[in-house]
Amino acid sequence: MKTLVLVEHDGKAVKDATLATVTAAAKLGDVHLLVAGKDVGAVAEAAAKIAGVGKVYVADAAHLEHQLAEDVAPVAAALMGHHDAFLASSTTTGKNIAPRVAALLDVMQISDILSVESEDTFTRPIYAGNAIATVRSKDAKKVITVRGTAFEKAARDGGSGTVEAVDAGSHDAKSKFVSEEMSKSERPELTSAKIIVSGGRGFGSNEQFHSLLDPLADKLGAGVGASRAAVDAGYAPNDYQVGQTGKIVAPEIYIAIGISGAIQHLAGMKDSKVIIAINKDEEAPIFQVADVGLVGDLFKIVPELTEKL
Ligand code: FAD
Repeated sequence: MKTLVLVEHDGKAVKDATLATVTAAAKLGDVHLLVAGKDVGAVAEAAAKIAGVGKVYVADAAHLEHQLAEDVAPVAAALMGHHDAFLASSTTTGKNIAPRVAALLDVMQISDILSVESEDTFTRPIYAGNAIATVRSKDAKKVITVRGTAFEKAARDGGSGTVEAVDAGSHDAKSKFVSEEMSKSERPELTSAKIIVSGGRGFGSNEQFHSLLDPLADKLGAGVGASRAAVDAGYAPNDYQVGQTGKIVAPEIYIAIGISGAIQHLAGMKDSKVIIAINKDEEAPIFQVADVGLVGDLFKIVPELTEKL
């Protein structure tokens, strides 16, 4: 079986999410990668070094600079003539492009897989992760998104794939890039952070969220996450959100502070190795999944913890 994996990148480096997707693809067969963008030679070279990669297709053109899904999907779909499965990470980018590839191939998408049972059978979470479905697809071509936290990351080195330029297609005039606002942070990105400190509505305001959580995160070298209630209340930006409709994370340590532990939040973090919860309500559901629980007022505990670290 030949697989084609969409490489997620920022024009400079391959993102971690792709490494887990490569591992999933390797369970199906030969791993080929697609790098689409503008001036992405260095990204393609880096991609070719990922362990287990056989070939890297590069679609390099000005109209692919911002990797609009409408422009990238046809390039991938064209390559699917000689591949059996297309895999993308279950990230904002992957979830934007993969359905379009599926539509162009006229097949269904198999979303957010947790495991590869065989060439046509996969497991995936349903009901916000409260049940795991085993799904079999009879489609000749498979289009799959992969949950990054469910697969080990392939090594960035050790591969010796070949790099091949492919037709980059043309710009789809239905959509155009207007602008982007990138949030800049020195902290690790949530989906690759080893430690995450996450804040909820318990913080009460944007100022308190940042004045208490940021120093703690800095001490721990941690990424900062948030519940949806905290995001909705404006304490934290959207890209901080962890959960069913936010990011799925599985760090070594997840510290949930002032977060009640609604199932939609747990869906995004319950696979973390060690969960530490700080909450003033000892009945809060977060304590049911926590390995370590601290019942108390976060306004007292967090500064104390930060000071002692
Ligand atoms: P609350 O439930 O209000 O909890 C605040 C907690 O802080 C309480 O447990 C309280 O005891 C504690 N607290 C208050 N003051 C203090 C203090 N001084 N010291 C210590 N503890 C204190 N939620 C997500 O997080 N992510 C998602 O992706 C997501 N997706 C959703 C999708 C759908 C379709 C729906 C319907 C909901 C979704 N939600 C999501 C929302 C979710 O149901 C909850 O509403 C949300 O997670 C609650 O956030 P919270 O725990 O911060 O707030």
